[in-house]
Amino acid sequence: MAGGRTADRRHRRTARSQGAGVKPLAIFGGTFDPVHLGHLSVAWEASELLDAEVRLMPASVPPHRPPPIASASQRVAMLRAALQNQARLALDTRELERGGPSYTIDTLVELRMEQGERPLVLLIGADAFAGLPSWHRWRELFDVAHVGVLSRPGVAAALPDDLQRMVAQRRVDDVATLRGVPAGKVIELAVTPLEISATRIRELLAAGRDPRYLLPAGLFDDAELLAPYRH
Ligand code: ATP
Repeated sequence: MAGGRTADRRHRRTARSQGAGVKPLAIFGGTFDPVHLGHLSVAWEASELLDAEVRLMPASVPPHRPPPIASASQRVAMLRAALQNQARLALDTRELERGGPSYTIDTLVELRMEQGERPLVLLIGADAFAGLPSWHRWRELFDVAHVGVLSRPGVAAALPDDLQRMVAQRRVDDVATLRGVPAGKVIELAVTPLEISATRIRELLAAGRDPRYLLPAGLFDDAELLAPYRH
């Protein structure tokens, strides 16, 4: 019935604007040069642990690091191939469409405006999290999103003092806490440790090796996808 559907929509809008009972939206950003099984596995487990919608968000010009080897469109093609045949992980290309440096704070502010009070979670590997104080307007990230820190092998636990102070009052252990408020908490997500990095994969491909089981199978369907890394 049309009236019922309108009421349903109204209810969903109210629930969304209050953030009540809505699945959190989690963002997993990176260069994905190339996307590998480490990324997919931790993103998948985070989605399960948080019961969240997870979006992989490739960065256009990463402010903190040398430019990627593969172009933006090549990285998107690899992500699309990697994300086939599953429903938990999605792709969000807004940072590529915006162009210029990919400042996470700008992306999260934009998402906050779109999503009302829905809990937002910024997913970051433990190595990237330790470097957070070098990010543009990093303190403001906690005003707009929660942070989910993904364990990563070989990363020392020590955090810089200013980050330590920032997270001291924000740490929570229970994922349910994240659902009650839109932003501001920090949670460690103990995902299965996988010692896979894009750097290592680029080295292997450049050396003529074929790291088949470190990469999603879809990346081997089309020889063009990994061509940027082969010499
Ligand atoms: P590179 O070796 O080029 O630095 P990377 O493998 O670290 O690449 P990025 O695209 O830079 O991949 O990482 C995106 C995000 O994924 C970062 O938050 C990073 O910490 C996280 N990440 C990447 N690989 C893993 C892994 N194996 N386990 C946990 N987190 C990971």
